[in-house]
Amino acid sequence: MEFIDSLTIALSKGRIFKQALPLLAHAGIEPYGDPEQSRKLILETNQPRVKLVIIRAGDVPTYVQYGAADLGVAGKDVLMEHGGAGLYEPLDLRIARCRLMVAGVPDADPGSDRLRIATKYVASTERHFAAKGQQVEIIKLYGSMELAPLVGLSDLIVDLVESGSTLKANGLVPLEHIANISARLVVNKAAWKMKHASVMALLAILCAAVEQNPTVRG
Ligand code: ATP
Ligand code: MG
Repeated sequence: MEFIDSLTIALSKGRIFKQALPLLAHAGIEPYGDPEQSRKLILETNQPRVKLVIIRAGDVPTYVQYGAADLGVAGKDVLMEHGGAGLYEPLDLRIARCRLMVAGVPDADPGSDRLRIATKYVASTERHFAAKGQQVEIIKLYGSMELAPLVGLSDLIVDLVESGSTLKANGLVPLEHIANISARLVVNKAAWKMKHASVMALLAILCAAVEQNPTVRG
């Protein structure tokens, strides 16, 4: 297909880019260049009006909110922290799947009061413990959360868990499930109106691609 509007799509490197690529290919979008190999932040594609911008996973909702990108692919974890202002979230792409979980040492009690929780996911953590009526102290980290309980920085962590092997390698176990996570298509609210035909066309093809995607069944 050919797009009648210019479209800028925001993506992060790594698993989101790798797993979104076959879905974009369904829509006839093939980037020139590989973000893992190059330092280019803007990738042209075989579609003259479509370009990709390669940014940090946590920045995708912000670029789309302000219309610097018309569309983006962002993890639900990132969207729950961002809050979703200025964007629509019309499609679960069912890629980059994992779970947001409370974890700690095997004998930790996630139900006790006054726990210290280390996490990158402050908003989701606050919401989770508030819903249980528990007072906790949240310590914001930017990575390697598994270290925090091992060195006495926190009692527990809240982090993404896929297989659990990173937790296990550090003597931690998952204790409570907070949310199932997958990557979502997000669309800037103004672009949704102003570039309606192109956005709808892309959305329809991506919907079909998700249904056919062998890696996301089940
Ligand atoms: P940055 O490296 O820029 O700080 P990040 O570590 O969150 O960001 P990635 O590791 O590429 O970036 O993760 C991007 C998205 O992929 C996350 O927001 C989440 O939705 C999903 N994700 C992260 N870790 C996993 C995992 N272990 N299994 C499956 N999906 C994951
Ligand atoms: Mg990472």
